[in-house]
Amino acid sequence: MKKIILGPPGSGKGTAASRIAPKRNIVHISTGDLLRENIRKQTPIGIKTKEFLENGDFVPDNLIINLIENRLKERDTEKGFILDGFPRTINQAKKLLEITDIDLLINMDVTEDVIIKRILTRLSCSHCNKIYNTRTIIPRQEGICDDCKNPLIKRSDDEIETIRQRLVIYKEMTKPIINFYKDKLVIKDVICNDLNQTPEETFQEVLDIIEGFEKENSQLEKDI
Ligand code: ADP
Repeated sequence: MKKIILGPPGSGKGTAASRIAPKRNIVHISTGDLLRENIRKQTPIGIKTKEFLENGDFVPDNLIINLIENRLKERDTEKGFILDGFPRTINQAKKLLEITDIDLLINMDVTEDVIIKRILTRLSCSHCNKIYNTRTIIPRQEGICDDCKNPLIKRSDDEIETIRQRLVIYKEMTKPIINFYKDKLVIKDVICNDLNQTPEETFQEVLDIIEGFEKENSQLEKDI
């Protein structure tokens, strides 16, 4: 169960991945969360990457590949994982297949218009990173995380100019990964253009795809 969830910023991939992981008993590895944690703790990698995140730019490949390579060596990844935010460049995509094998790529397909509306209303917990918004994931107490009771914040890279910049970069650098992986991995698309679709519905769609894929696979194994 080694999966990648790919999609533009604000496509809902982080929210879906964080719900899929406990459900399938695998670990959710978000490079964005890993980086933000390193920045908060002021680790050497956090200090080196802070500015890139604030500007909405990619962290250099060597730093992020190193981070993910170390993370994938940890014991908890043996039961499987879902990668969220990695790979983001063709170079990272190539390197990933040298580090590990991947059985499924879930591609979150969503228009820019929907993304911009989503990101502008997004908040996340300053401590546990749980994501909220003002339409479909409303915290019980305004500005406070339901789970750990810490304050909700707007991420510094969630401003309109930065979002536009991140979308341009996504189109140029990350989207081509789908083509690159086309003949190397199984790819399943999830169309998520309905602004009122709840995270629960998106999660269910992704889960159905994963379960369908696993069923097909176990049938194939039986046939062989
Ligand atoms: P989003 O999905 O909303 O873009 P993430 O939390 O995945 O947010 O990532 C936040 C930021 O972390 C990115 O804008 C980028 O600066 C950095 N980052 C995360 N993953 C990578 C990666 N694989 N390669 C380069 N930079 C990355």
